[in-house]
Amino acid sequence: MITVKRPQLNFFERLYLGALFKGMFITLRHALANLFSQKHIITYEYPEIKKPIPEDYRAEHRLMQRPDGSPRCTACMLCATACPANCIEIVAAEHEDPRVEKYPAVYNINLLRCIYCSLCVEACPCDAIRMDTKKIEQAGYSREHFIVDKDYLLHNHPEDRSPYSIALY
Ligand code: SF4
Ligand code: SF4
Repeated sequence: MITVKRPQLNFFERLYLGALFKGMFITLRHALANLFSQKHIITYEYPEIKKPIPEDYRAEHRLMQRPDGSPRCTACMLCATACPANCIEIVAAEHEDPRVEKYPAVYNINLLRCIYCSLCVEACPCDAIRMDTKKIEQAGYSREHFIVDKDYLLHNHPEDRSPYSIALY
């Protein structure tokens, strides 16, 4: 354990006038800089102006499709097992195509519980789930709106930038 001694302040330091003026000077300097030059402003006028989202940002999930539009997912449950928030619900069913063992009859993600860790993406052996939609603005009228199902996830394309996709879904 390290004991740190409280510094002894002299009379003028205990008035805190120096720190007060220093703080006011910094505030005034930023205010004047922003008044005459917009390029120093680091806040965005959201929602009119949105901050660019990095390519590898972990956003809302999507399920990948096979060429025939069916889910690439084989309902192996690895994503649900890896999920630390226990927010993926999968019900596996037998596929009518003998070359495909199983498919997810139900695939739900509770986005209110999700912590966007992307462990589900890393666990998937089929590249069947991705988080590259860049959708980060989520709004809904009830908790149920945030439980997204297989159909929603299969059509949650990155090009669709609708900010309120869940509420309108
Ligand atoms: S991002 Fe993490 S918390 Fe969210 S569904 Fe995937 S594994 Fe679960
Ligand atoms: S998304 Fe991937 S890991 Fe999850 S059940 Fe489907 S195939 Fe398995």
